[in-house]
Amino acid sequence: MGRVKELRNASAQGDRVVYWMQASQRSDCNRALEHSISLSNQLDKPLQVLFVIDPGYPSANRRSFTFMLQGLQDVADGLSRRGIAFSVRQGDIVAEVLDHVEGAAALVMDRGYLGHQRRWYNDILESTEIPLWQIEDNVVVPVDIASQKEEWSAATLRRRITPQIDDNLTPTTKHELRIDSDGLWDEGYEWKGVDGHLKDLKLNGPLPSTQHKGGEVEAKRRLKRFIDERLVRYSERRNDPAGQWTSDLSPYLHFGHISPVTIAHMAKGIQGSESFLEELIVRRELAVNFVTYNPDYESYGCLPDWAKKTLDEHRDDRREYVYSSRELEKGETHDIYWNAAQSEMLVTGKMHNYMRMYWGKKIIEWSETPEMAYEAAITLNDRYELDGRDPNGYAGVAWCFGKHDRPWKERDIFGKVRYMNAKGLERKFFMPAYVELAISYLQDAENNGDRPRT
Ligand SMILES: Cc1cc2nc3c(=O)[nH]c(=O)nc-3n(C[C@H](O)[C@H](O)[C@H](O)COP(=O)(O)OP(=O)(O)OC[C@H]3O[C@@H](n4cnc5c(N)ncnc54)[C@H](O)[C@@H]3O)c2cc1C
Repeated sequence: MGRVKELRNASAQGDRVVYWMQASQRSDCNRALEHSISLSNQLDKPLQVLFVIDPGYPSANRRSFTFMLQGLQDVADGLSRRGIAFSVRQGDIVAEVLDHVEGAAALVMDRGYLGHQRRWYNDILESTEIPLWQIEDNVVVPVDIASQKEEWSAATLRRRITPQIDDNLTPTTKHELRIDSDGLWDEGYEWKGVDGHLKDLKLNGPLPSTQHKGGEVEAKRRLKRFIDERLVRYSERRNDPAGQWTSDLSPYLHFGHISPVTIAHMAKGIQGSESFLEELIVRRELAVNFVTYNPDYESYGCLPDWAKKTLDEHRDDRREYVYSSRELEKGETHDIYWNAAQSEMLVTGKMHNYMRMYWGKKIIEWSETPEMAYEAAITLNDRYELDGRDPNGYAGVAWCFGKHDRPWKERDIFGKVRYMNAKGLERKFFMPAYVELAISYLQDAENNGDRPRT
């Protein structure tokens, strides 16, 4: 247990230390990188950082790869400033990592929580014999310290995690690399720049976001802007879909361009930070707990029994509107607010949190079956959101169907699952402003010749 795990203790006989970067795509405030540097110093062997671009990564497309590569540009720059060799390979992750660590003295990995990431770590552990370390730096409280079972709700996790937060907010200590790793630049595996790699990848799918540019530099800029300009009014304004009061950091957290420890450390103690830290730590780490301990996290089967039972009892209720997944994808429904939310996601790659809840609830209402609704929500979220394919996405969709929530008053289609409607939006917010915002995104995209292609 803990942030730093020695997965295999063996003698370090090879010629170099390798840090395989995957979940923490940053050169600064990265404990896995700093651990690798101290290991390199301690073993007196040079360090090489490896990144593998996997064209077959689940649901990855032109939009998500572009954002990721923008982040890798910052990594390449940051490593080069510190004199650390950086190799970039393209292909199957496990095969490339295993090929690359041939003859290495030790391997350091970072940590993600999804099923395919866990399978990579196991495969690599089983197929190597060298010393192996794993460093967990994309959560505030390491997942198995927070809890060793699936938590029922935010309330149950909050009780466990809150006493552990302060001890886990220590900033990363930066180490100086003592051994020059210049001789380790791998011929044929150089960083080729964003466009160079995009050309090799020959991608399709949604166009890159013009609103959100990837990378640790931009992540830090957003964090500063959030703390200076938005945090003080966050708790009161964060739900307003037309307001810009949230941090917009979720895509950066997803790719590991910034660590939640850095964010929490900077935000803590500032007026307004309490409700922000509740989202950043309790809600986000509830999602990490969910995907870690619920093997069905991507599918309808993950829901609690009460939710499945009540949705089942209402599966034959009459639906006033039924839309196919194609109609949903194009944002062609009768509901102007839902279409605006869908457009925001199609164009910018990031829908406002409050509208994500409404969006998911309406997909339940307008789909033939709850299972079809589930699949449509996951597919669209993973395809278009820059922060998609993330524990938060799986937990967010599941929440719309009752996960981490409680039964409410029974009604058609939803049964006891919480319901939302357009009147609620209108009561709380000035919705024409949100529709205007979505129209302006569509117009900008059209002016740039980038009508969102679905
Ligand atoms: C149907 C649905 C789908 C969702 N899909 C995703 C997704 O794919 N990826 C994703 O990161 N989030 C998802 N969320 C959660 C939430 O909407 C986003 O995290 C939030 O909108 C990100 O914006 P922000 O960074 O400006 O958030 P802020 O309000 O600034 O919050 C800071 C950070 O706290 C975390 N956070 C905020 N709200 C939540 C929440 N409700 N649950 C868990 N963590 C939260 C995020 O990491 C966020 O970046 C989804 C929610 C729903 C209801």
